Amino acid sequence: MPDTAILHSPRSPATTEHFDVLIVGAGISGVGAAYHLTTQCPDKRFVVLETEETFGGTWWTHKYPGIRSDSDLHTFGYRFKPWRGAPIATAEEILRYMGEVISENDLARHIRYGHHISHASWDSAKKLWTIDAVDKVNDTARRFTCGFLYMCQGYYRHRQGYMPEWPNMAAYQGRLVHSEEWPEDLEYADKRVVVIGSGASAATIIPAMAAKAAHVTMLQRSPTYFRVGRNAIEIAEELRSLGISEDWIHEITRRKILFEQAKFAKMTFTNPEQVKEALLDGIRGIVGQDYDIATHFTPTYRPWRQRMAFVPNGDLFHGIASGKASVVTDEIERFSEKGILTKSGQEIEADIIVAATGFNLNILGDIAFEIDGKPLDFHETVTYRGMMFTGMPNMVWVFGYFRASWTLRADLVGDFVCKLLKHMDSAGKKQVEVALREEDHNMPILPWMDPENFNPGYLMRGMHLLPQRGDKPEWMHNQDYWAEKDEFPQIDLNDAAFIYK
Ligand SMILES: Cc1cc2nc3c(=O)[nH]c(=O)nc-3n(C[C@H](O)[C@H](O)[C@H](O)COP(=O)(O)OP(=O)(O)OC[C@H]3O[C@@H](n4cnc5c(N)ncnc54)[C@H](O)[C@@H]3O)c2cc1C
Repeated sequence: MPDTAILHSPRSPATTEHFDVLIVGAGISGVGAAYHLTTQCPDKRFVVLETEETFGGTWWTHKYPGIRSDSDLHTFGYRFKPWRGAPIATAEEILRYMGEVISENDLARHIRYGHHISHASWDSAKKLWTIDAVDKVNDTARRFTCGFLYMCQGYYRHRQGYMPEWPNMAAYQGRLVHSEEWPEDLEYADKRVVVIGSGASAATIIPAMAAKAAHVTMLQRSPTYFRVGRNAIEIAEELRSLGISEDWIHEITRRKILFEQAKFAKMTFTNPEQVKEALLDGIRGIVGQDYDIATHFTPTYRPWRQRMAFVPNGDLFHGIASGKASVVTDEIERFSEKGILTKSGQEIEADIIVAATGFNLNILGDIAFEIDGKPLDFHETVTYRGMMFTGMPNMVWVFGYFRASWTLRADLVGDFVCKLLKHMDSAGKKQVEVALREEDHNMPILPWMDPENFNPGYLMRGMHLLPQRGDKPEWMHNQDYWAEKDEFPQIDLNDAAFIYK
């Protein structure tokens, strides 16, 4: 049972519960964190606080038609639990998988749902975080203390999309919805639909809606790269037909996928034109030679600068080939009563307009942080490998990969946290913080991510809120699974970058 101490401030909640570790969020990262603590640090008492009424994060809050992963579940799934289904999975399948992880490892007893965290403050004298949350079910303030904060809050605001301001939006007489805020009552059978956007969400929504709608138009300002392929991994199918155990299939399939991805990522730098042609050929094979691929599916940037969605079985392009869906590549001039007027003078009439225009960044779960009574300016911090931050003691943040599956990094960070906690225990230390070493003091301090390398809109819009980085591997968030999988286990916890107290 957790420690319970009575507090005397009348404005404070009546009791405080103490845990060794507090995990923020029960998405795929938070549930993974709970698993790693349970298996690698069984003596640690921990709690997971989640604002939603259930686990899943991304896979629970997204409700748009066709919601599915855009990377394969062999690598988006945890390394410790085999994925048995098709590689691209629906949200429902991912939630079922996560539910099994929770029940098989008895994790439910650690998770408190409906707990929204608003404040976190660190006290150096007590070497303790104090966390204030609202228990939404009982409408009660709750206070927790913990020695270590394990931030698994994701990176964007759930249930609130990024909606650009276009002229004359109020004049539109149809229904305007955002993909992040899908209304349960939206009926779209036989309706004319325009989907604004060309990212993974648009690519999912369009074929799913096209099945019932009168017509779906994809309206994009500029094209995006897509990978087209069968929703199956041959090696997994073959091994399964040979009766190989699921653990082996998982491991071999992961290794094969990661090997192929590394080759692909390398080629996007060494032979970008060849990669580009191969990607376009995949689309051409479905929409036909006469389709205007140059206008609608040929981006100006090199492949991989933005996240690339996998289109299982080419469903988006089959929708286009069948005439149920079409693409307009143009800018929005303004909204009209009936739809959208584009800069080239075309009016696209629509009963429903779906803005699949992306996210708003959520920094540290939108929690107000204080360090020894001073509000935290997160942008002033420098990141240690995209996990820890200068001036923020006893805290690790999970921020996954974009070019590989997010969860690969959640598993690596899990190992790091457990190793760090054990190291602190054996050294008899209660506080750890990262700090620039003497040799780092002349290091250039740069923005969180190099826009030349990776530049999605939500990151660019929020760069001024994100931490900064240096130009050495330990002071960067390099988004490189293939380097980090070898580097992370080798991290020297006695390095001068770690300050223990
Ligand atoms: C539609 C969609 C599809 C995607 N597909 C893929 C994919 O195929 N492959 C891939 O690698 N990535 C994909 N991503 C990125 C994806 O978000 C991550 O891969 C992953 O699901 C993030 O998991 P997470 O647990 O870190 O964060 P989230 O899923 O965002 O979960 C964070 C949890 O923390 C909770 N939380 C946040 N703040 C607080 C607070 N203050 N108090 C209490 N609780 C809080 C939230 O309610 C949420 O449940 C996709 C993203 C979207 C939106």
